[in-house]
Amino acid sequence: MIKLAVLGPSGRMGRRVIELAAVKEGVQVHSAIDRSDSPLIGQVLDDGVVVTSNLETGLAGCAAYVDFTTPESTAAAARAARHTRVAAVVGTTGLGPAALAELDRLAETAPVLVAANFSLGVNLLLVLAESAARALGPDFDFEVVELHHRHKRDAPSGTALALARALAAGRDQSLDEVLCTARSGDVGERGPGEIGVFGLRGGETIGEHTAYLIGDSERIEISHRAASRDLFAAGALRAATWLAGRPPGHYRMRDVLGL
Ligand code: NAD
Repeated sequence: MIKLAVLGPSGRMGRRVIELAAVKEGVQVHSAIDRSDSPLIGQVLDDGVVVTSNLETGLAGCAAYVDFTTPESTAAAARAARHTRVAAVVGTTGLGPAALAELDRLAETAPVLVAANFSLGVNLLLVLAESAARALGPDFDFEVVELHHRHKRDAPSGTALALARALAAGRDQSLDEVLCTARSGDVGERGPGEIGVFGLRGGETIGEHTAYLIGDSERIEISHRAASRDLFAAGALRAATWLAGRPPGHYRMRDVLGL
């Protein structure tokens, strides 16, 4: 039985992680940690877990934690987990250098898995995109478009950036050198090798991604549409049971899924 800490129990994802963990064999939610001004603090969840804002006590005694929160919270949790060596499953997107550095430091003492997307379908999409880019080569132009609900904070989505990175890897490019996230005004012709990544926002759309691979006389589109948040929550729980007890270091969702 893996004892689990869940960050952000009041959030869209954290809530589903707790609900799915309650019916999944082999995991038990041991603690729930939310921001100090969350209305859930001090409340008792269905399974008897009291919601706390204290990371140290919340992580104590857990084999893994699942984090779908904010970049600032992700950095703070990684810092706290270094002392307890808890396995980290991080789904928060839009992570900046500070959070990534904390996760790198945590990976020196604990297993860490950061994934912009926990669904099997999206991880398969990344593999397909990389091999399509490799096969099509420099004559095709690559663009990525994503669509998410109006509440999403970061843009473009972490999954869209992962998709662009997979396309770049297929052509042995570094995404940083070819990424284009804005076109407005007299921007001139499309640069060679450029990969455009653009986000749309609206309604309660859970998440949709399409990679466009555009040649002179044909176009390939590879798409994924999420129909429920459950696939991300279930994927994160699967990652937590797989990760707990492994040696320190960084792991990928591809490793969990055997892709
Ligand atoms: P949300 O706004 O509904 O929830 C965020 C949660 O974080 C809230 O419960 C909030 O109280 C909590 N939080 C904020 N600061 C905190 C702190 N200091 N300590 C503890 N908890 C804190 O957001 P959401 O839709 O659940 O998404 C959360 C993140 O997960 C986003 O970055 C989103 O892009 C990402 N996400 C990733 C995947 C994936 O598969 N990797 C899937 C969906 C969403």
